[in-house]
Amino acid sequence: MNIQIFDIRVPFEHSEKDILAALAAMTGMSPEEIGPFRIVRKSLDARGRRPPSWLYSVRFSASREPAFIKETGKEVKYKITEDESPPGFAAVSPPEKRPVVIGCGPAGLFGAYALASSGVPVLLLEKGRKIETRRRDVEAFWKEGLLEQDSNVHFGEGGAGAFSDGKLTTRVRSGFLDMIKKSLVDFGAPPEILYDAKPHIGTDKLREVVGNFRRGLAGMGCEIRFGAKVTGILAPRGVVEGLVVNGREEIPTGHILLAAGQSSPEIYRILEEIGADLEPKAFAMGLRIEHLQETINGIQYGAWSGLKGLPPADYFLTAGPGGPARGVYSFCMCPGGCVIASSSEEGGVVTNGMSLHRRNGAYANSAIVANVRPGDFGSASPLAGLEFRKFWERRAFTAAGGDYRAPAQGLLEFLQDKYSGRVGHASYRPGVKPVPLRDVLPHFLTEALKQGLLRFGEKMPGFISPEANLIGVETRTSSPVRITRREDGRSRNIAGLYPCGEGSGYAGGIMSSALDGIRGAQAILKNLEKKS
Ligand SMILES: Cc1cc2nc3c(=O)[nH]c(=O)nc-3n(C[C@H](O)[C@H](O)[C@H](O)COP(=O)(O)OP(=O)(O)OC[C@H]3O[C@@H](n4cnc5c(N)ncnc54)[C@H](O)[C@@H]3O)c2cc1C
Repeated sequence: MNIQIFDIRVPFEHSEKDILAALAAMTGMSPEEIGPFRIVRKSLDARGRRPPSWLYSVRFSASREPAFIKETGKEVKYKITEDESPPGFAAVSPPEKRPVVIGCGPAGLFGAYALASSGVPVLLLEKGRKIETRRRDVEAFWKEGLLEQDSNVHFGEGGAGAFSDGKLTTRVRSGFLDMIKKSLVDFGAPPEILYDAKPHIGTDKLREVVGNFRRGLAGMGCEIRFGAKVTGILAPRGVVEGLVVNGREEIPTGHILLAAGQSSPEIYRILEEIGADLEPKAFAMGLRIEHLQETINGIQYGAWSGLKGLPPADYFLTAGPGGPARGVYSFCMCPGGCVIASSSEEGGVVTNGMSLHRRNGAYANSAIVANVRPGDFGSASPLAGLEFRKFWERRAFTAAGGDYRAPAQGLLEFLQDKYSGRVGHASYRPGVKPVPLRDVLPHFLTEALKQGLLRFGEKMPGFISPEANLIGVETRTSSPVRITRREDGRSRNIAGLYPCGEGSGYAGGIMSSALDGIRGAQAILKNLEKKS
């Protein structure tokens, strides 16, 4: 019998023996009887006045029921579990023309992995460069403002998640999530991601994982081509027959897993040209807020904030009903990280956040965003959201001097609608320029963000801090376009096209995009099975 016991509390400083002792006390079994156990979840409890402690859920196999199960009145949360075999991929005969995956981000990588695991190796096309070269391109942009069109924070091996905090949290539920994390560990991610309640990898480790992933896929028979930009899809009469690379090379295929992310306008234009069904989609836009990490630690941990070994504190804030007319929330919080320049188009400024695995930087940042609806885009075209965000990215670029510095303003000044022309230190490279941020956002957003931030200050006293700065603009929270799909993951009206990941408008974030890539692969496999 396998038993999972929840909420095993141990002191902040503890060893594995302490977990076993707590488990023995809860179950009424001896440590010898319990034997080896597997940690399923570990979370920090640092709320309130009690000293911080850890809560574990563990699984072990037992030859008898723990004593408490028969006792009444003893509140131990548990479940008896079956031996769970992880979901896998059944073997399928590969088609004559191999499937093509567009994009080497989480969706494309995991989609390719799923297909190759079923015996269907693919051709992966990525317009950007290998992670090792891409890293140098990104560094040159941060240092000198030299933007490479197809090799930047959004484009290249690893996709948009490569220069990130590598948070692996998601609200989506699926048996494949554990499989995704396990594969990441196999490719070099820290093993704690398997059980941490808030798992994260950090950009330094993530880059290693991405390179190992490529070598793993190649070992499974996949071909990966960099600098291979898809410039056309051949789909006469609404059926995929191939695609065009770099405007000159035609590659025949009957199956395209489209995992190109949300930042490539050329892909949406190609889809428009072939008549794929597209629709505008709501997304969120706003600013990055940056505090000193010690300010956030002080707010969240109170008297315990100096305790050695405590992870840098995070937060998640929402201003819902009774607050601003539009939902305002914090997004993609990066403890101990930095705000990064994330432009992917010339003449546009885009902010985002990232951190190293150790999260040991002096700053804490998070996007503060409000909902933007298709009605705000100013046109009914399915691609109007792309134009909308581009307009504000360009506005930010011009306002900050046209050299990829970002517009920034002190939090208090923004809230009080004052402008001193000065701004404190910010982690953002290649630098910030003081600008009244109301000039780089639509009026409705400025107002919603102000109200939202004031709400956050009530919920988290100390959040409205004089040292905090706002940096803009944050526009790439999710895709403003949806490539509509059928239930089974195919494009609604183009046979052989399987849009997935963030760019499809059905997923967002590393884990949900990876999962969506697997779902797209499964749809292709089903189609191949039917044909064989
Ligand atoms: C700086 C930053 C930090 C982030 N932090 C986190 C985080 O901590 N946690 C989290 O869950 N999410 C985070 N995200 C979001 C996350 O990275 C994305 O949701 C995720 O990467 C989307 O995966 P995807 O595979 O769908 O698309 P992408 O990762 O965008 O990958 C798409 C790939 O397709 C390629 N491509 C595009 N067009 C073409 C073409 N025409 N031809 C060939 N190739 C093409 C691109 O170059 C790119 O490599 C972050 C994003 C950014 C930008």
